[in-house]
Amino acid sequence: MRISRRRFLELALGLTVLAACTRRAPEGDGQILPATPACGDGDDATPPQTAGPFFKPASPERSSLVESDTVGTLLIVAGSVLATDCRPVAGALLDFWQTDDAGVYDNQGFGFRGHQFADDQGRWELRTIVPGLYPGRTRHIHVNVQAPDGPVLTTQLYFPAEPTNEVDAIFDPALLMEAEGTVDGQRAGFTFVLDVS
Ligand code: FE
Repeated sequence: MRISRRRFLELALGLTVLAACTRRAPEGDGQILPATPACGDGDDATPPQTAGPFFKPASPERSSLVESDTVGTLLIVAGSVLATDCRPVAGALLDFWQTDDAGVYDNQGFGFRGHQFADDQGRWELRTIVPGLYPGRTRHIHVNVQAPDGPVLTTQLYFPAEPTNEVDAIFDPALLMEAEGTVDGQRAGFTFVLDVS
């Protein structure tokens, strides 16, 4: 759904607060859970994926990829970076890149590219739009995640209920975001688990 710039900003603000403060129990019983996700014993590290040909180094530091002339459906992705022992990875670097609404990467400038650092609890939040589709791939967001002084995890995030997931050769269900459609936009979540032992 296309939305006005003003409504977009109102939503972004509201959804940011929502995403930062609460997390619905997966059973849908209405219980509000803390933002910190559950982490059990022996959680698997987030699997790597190819960076593809469109990564560019030196992206700007910003948690919002939305600009004054951005077109598309608002998407707030919030999550955490944890170690396999469930400790938060404070200050982890997250460098995101994706296409615009039409499925096109900005290879001249830094449109829809940006890096940020997780907070002391390993939490992060990205404000962007739902990326478009391009031939041969399902809908996805690229990301590099790196603990301070750790190795770089290059991977991709996917959208649930996306029909093209099933025909994408590299799609991995372990990289599906928890996503929830709203009337005017979408919010999603993902917990990165890094093997930093
Ligand atoms: Fe891509």
